[in-house]
Amino acid sequence: MSLPVPSASAPFYPAAIAGHDSEAGARYTVRSPATGEPIAEVADCGAEVAQVAADSAQRGFEQWRQTTPFERAALLKAWHGAMLEAKETLALTMAREMGKPIREARGEVDYAAGFIEWFAEQAKRIDGDILPSPHPEKRLSVLRQPVGPVFAITPWNFPAAMITRKVAPGLAAGCSVIVKPAEQTPITALMLAELWRQVGGPAEVFQVITAERPAAISEVLMADARIRKLTFTGSTPVGKRLYAQSAATMKRMSLELGGHAPFLVFDDADIDAAVTEVMASKFRNGGQTCVCTNRIYVQRGIFDAFAERLAAAAAALAIGDPEDEATQVGPLVSQAGRDKAQAHIDDALAKGAQRLTPALSVDGLYVAPTVLTGVTPEMRIMQEETFGPVAPLIVFDDEAEAIAAANDTPFGLAAYLWTRSLGRAARVSEALDYGIVGVNDGAPSVPNAPFGGVKDSGLGREGGHYGIDEYLDCKFVSTRLDR
Ligand code: NAD
Repeated sequence: MSLPVPSASAPFYPAAIAGHDSEAGARYTVRSPATGEPIAEVADCGAEVAQVAADSAQRGFEQWRQTTPFERAALLKAWHGAMLEAKETLALTMAREMGKPIREARGEVDYAAGFIEWFAEQAKRIDGDILPSPHPEKRLSVLRQPVGPVFAITPWNFPAAMITRKVAPGLAAGCSVIVKPAEQTPITALMLAELWRQVGGPAEVFQVITAERPAAISEVLMADARIRKLTFTGSTPVGKRLYAQSAATMKRMSLELGGHAPFLVFDDADIDAAVTEVMASKFRNGGQTCVCTNRIYVQRGIFDAFAERLAAAAAALAIGDPEDEATQVGPLVSQAGRDKAQAHIDDALAKGAQRLTPALSVDGLYVAPTVLTGVTPEMRIMQEETFGPVAPLIVFDDEAEAIAAANDTPFGLAAYLWTRSLGRAARVSEALDYGIVGVNDGAPSVPNAPFGGVKDSGLGREGGHYGIDEYLDCKFVSTRLDR
């Protein structure tokens, strides 16, 4: 790869727009969340560049839709291989631009590449239907065709995976895709585009437009009727705004939005195993994933033992430099993210919660892993997505109470439970109003399973054989035979 890893020399990264040279245009600075120091200069694209990208995407689509699924699958496979070869570069880039601990960053590269491999295979399975005809002189069939040029907006918390989960099915279906990555993590996105071009992928088919002010880009692309689909992963308020904007051009929509995941631990649980799964779900990526547990409900009989062991495990987590192999919790991505997590802790303590973990003093954007008890529904942490390493514990008495509490939220992305009872596992997972349920499993996501939410957590599914449907339109063809 010719693009350098971001560093203290703050190299410049042009946008990946076919037919546009961003060398002379505006730039913005990307800073390391671990040190606060500049690590890159990136093209700060505006409306004019967005227009160039849309024109290129339309041209790219006209060509790309003519390719066979087998040609598309071969290119996607080559891109998958290139990504794995560049694993260390991509992982280090993610550690530097978003503060993800390096071992987790390597795991993200594998996970992200997994979507490319999966959708390379799925490209060859875009089949249609032959329908029985009620008329002897007619033949009825259904074709599935690419929706057209796609606009994808992605968040910073998975700088690689949130892109491949959208771009791979889009390309496999025959669409062209313009990605607008989060302003904090543009470099991983640009590297993915470079790898695509290196393996022979057409530049007009996958483009990356970087910008410090996302609305300047999205206003142009949302208003452009040639862009037939928006796929967005990010916060619920921004998702709702884009949903409203999409009405003017009637775009297809996929919205992967915020969550407020409950984890129900029943008193038949293996406490150590339950602690392990809660730790994986809560503290992964510093608590900055949309499926991170936000509320932990523990049945009264095991509450004290569970709380003690969870607090001990949280206190033992290694906080530090994301590039250090030993680090388990890095900095939060931004001052606003750090302030929100800290505000959730302060608000809970002020309203009567108790802290079970040591009150460490940490500098910069770090927040010490924290376990709280005595948490009540009116506390902010019980209503808003925390996106930080804070685990509130709530006691419950019976199954019905736990289900009602878990469902008492506008969100519906992921929920978890721990029990040894097969009957309870079935009953509770059916009763939870969520798109994803982990039964004795705090990390359920895999490329071949559907990922997405209900209610304020969004629309549509990514991954699995469902993921490619979001990029395909269904066309009914009725043929009257010669008489
Ligand atoms: P965000 O909504 O602030 O930003 C997400 C993306 O939207 C970024 O690229 C940003 O530049 C862009 N954006 C912001 N304002 C915009 C506007 N007015 N017009 C167009 N684009 C705009 O969210 P964030 O803080 O970066 O990401 C964290 C959120 O993402 C959390 O709520 C998290 O739960 C959610 N998330 C959801 C999933 C999922 O699959 N459901 C996965 C990861 C993250």
